[in-house]
Amino acid sequence: MTDKDACSDAIIESMSSICGTDHVTVSEEVSDYGFMQQHRPQLLVSPGSVEEIQEIVRFATASGVPLIALGGGTRIAQVLGRMNHGIAVCTRRLDRISEFEPGNLSLRCGSGTLPAAVRELTTDHNLQLAILADFDHSTVGGQVASDFSGWKRYRYGASGDYVLGLSFVSTDGKHVSTGGKTVKNVSGYDFTRLLSGSWGRFGIITSVTFKLLPRPEKELLAVKDFSDAEEALEEGVDILSKVADPCSCNLIGDRKHADIRLVLCLEGSSELVSSQLNRLQLGTGWRLETSEGNRDTAAEEYACRRRAMKRDIFHTAAIDKRLLAKTFPLLRLLAKYHCSYDFDLSAGLLEFSSADSEETSFDEFKEAWQSAVDGQAGIRHTLVPTARPSAMFARIVERLDPHCIMFPDNLYSGGGDHD
Ligand SMILES: Cc1cc2nc3c(=O)[nH]c(=O)nc-3n(C[C@H](O)[C@H](O)[C@H](O)COP(=O)(O)OP(=O)(O)OC[C@H]3O[C@@H](n4cnc5c(N)ncnc54)[C@H](O)[C@@H]3O)c2cc1C
Repeated sequence: MTDKDACSDAIIESMSSICGTDHVTVSEEVSDYGFMQQHRPQLLVSPGSVEEIQEIVRFATASGVPLIALGGGTRIAQVLGRMNHGIAVCTRRLDRISEFEPGNLSLRCGSGTLPAAVRELTTDHNLQLAILADFDHSTVGGQVASDFSGWKRYRYGASGDYVLGLSFVSTDGKHVSTGGKTVKNVSGYDFTRLLSGSWGRFGIITSVTFKLLPRPEKELLAVKDFSDAEEALEEGVDILSKVADPCSCNLIGDRKHADIRLVLCLEGSSELVSSQLNRLQLGTGWRLETSEGNRDTAAEEYACRRRAMKRDIFHTAAIDKRLLAKTFPLLRLLAKYHCSYDFDLSAGLLEFSSADSEETSFDEFKEAWQSAVDGQAGIRHTLVPTARPSAMFARIVERLDPHCIMFPDNLYSGGGDHD
């Protein structure tokens, strides 16, 4: 059976009449939007307005067809369960920056806006949206929905921390606005927070108002390559004992590169960065770059490596920072199973890929990993896909999405197929 057969003509016709045939995609082309070939919705629509989204949602509720909100599709393949039905609603056409108020440190834009557009506008005014993805296709709506936190999470937190307000289309087709454009804008429960990190489970975000920050006066990136993970870990832990609040300090073991890399970022006023650097007395082997000078070679190379590697990153372990020095056996285990990892020492977050070796199965790796971390208080690990929605979450879903149309197969926030 072809995709076209599986997706009834009536659905295709309805979507075309709402968005126009040019904005409806059927067949394998849907996988161009980030879905895996074998797990993808049957149809992709790209509405150009809030009203079109409302019509799509009302149609889905009335006909019982599940919907998936889609931004840039950079994370979508990983959150899907075994899916072969439903409609993806792509928000990329909602990409207008409708308000930019440098004096109020706020910016409002459509959920399909790309990070580059936000960065370009804010940089000109010496401002920044502190948590903003450094990969091209992700949308601000997708970032908020996944509560994105990049490599500077220890200093700046997550995407949701910068959302002053947002609008979304709820599962009954209403356009709901929460929050506002001031920092104090909620009396009672903060619904903006509910949508940040909802992974598209409660509705389709249409626009977001962000809080901006001044750009730091100075940014310094220090990079050192090691041949030995234990040595790199020791140096990282030593750095954190001298400077408790770096912007970030990451240890990267990438299966495609033999070396282990320690990347330290310091940010703030020139005085602060200089005094932190004095305290650290970094030894030999370090390469330094500052935002004032030869900036961007190491930063760009680091960003490229992370981007390439992060596509495979799937599992996370949250580690109490007092235990960092004792985590070498975990790194040794990851190396043994050819996993790539990005260990954010400043935040105590170890992200790693699945085992990549012809000789080992995921189950074998899982067993080895679990016996290494089981019983270790202070290490909370998640091997994905394992997430099950809590009873409380299930009750919220019941109330907000009674017909279960919003992305019921989402592994991160809905259940789905966990095989
Ligand atoms: C190279 C790379 C590096 C990454 N690094 C990090 C990292 O350091 N830290 C981190 O936290 N994450 C990281 N991610 C994952 C990141 O959170 C997401 O890729 C990205 O921010 C999501 O944006 P997107 O537009 O691509 O969303 P998509 O992939 O399209 O969607 C992601 C989720 O959000 C939902 N969604 C999308 N748009 C909307 C909307 N308008 N309304 C409601 N729901 C919506 C989708 O249904 C889905 O559940 C990385 C991903 C890649 C590919």
